[in-house]
Amino acid sequence: MRVDLTQAIERDDFDWTAETEYEPDSIMISGLSYVISEKMPVTVSVHHSEKGHVHIICRTGMTVSIPCDRCLKPVEHSFDMICEEECVLPQHASEDSYVDGMFLDTDRMITHEILLQWPSKNLCRPDCKGLCSVCGHDLNVSECGCNRVVPDPRMAAIQDLFQTFQQESEKS
Ligand SMILES: [Zn+2]
Ligand SMILES: [Zn+2]
Repeated sequence: MRVDLTQAIERDDFDWTAETEYEPDSIMISGLSYVISEKMPVTVSVHHSEKGHVHIICRTGMTVSIPCDRCLKPVEHSFDMICEEECVLPQHASEDSYVDGMFLDTDRMITHEILLQWPSKNLCRPDCKGLCSVCGHDLNVSECGCNRVVPDPRMAAIQDLFQTFQQESEKS
């Protein structure tokens, strides 16, 4: 929602609250799109705090489907958000600002908050076994029997040396 803040700055007693919704149905993060499975209404409040300043509060909640880091199964992650900003008007738009001149963009304000709250680690369960690196089978369901032992490169080098030594001694 785009909110015109002109009146908020002109009237000393300006105090306004409205309900709107977060428009996007997905969130883009580092080129990946995540589906929003549930959205709560957005409550936006604007009030004139002191001369030239407005106080903005946006409250909402949503659930986003984020694939497990290990097995890619979707995990429903809930976000509870209270975004608060005290700003001086008119404000010059910068890359991460959600106030452009006299206009507030509530979607941008909420997106910014989601990014701040985004989990750095997302697992379907703490002991998720993940997918087999050979065949892609879900190891939480069953063991597939693949040989996933990755040889330690240092050990492999020693083995090579040992083999060379053996071959050399066989020749003599
Ligand atoms: Zn998992
Ligand atoms: Zn496998």
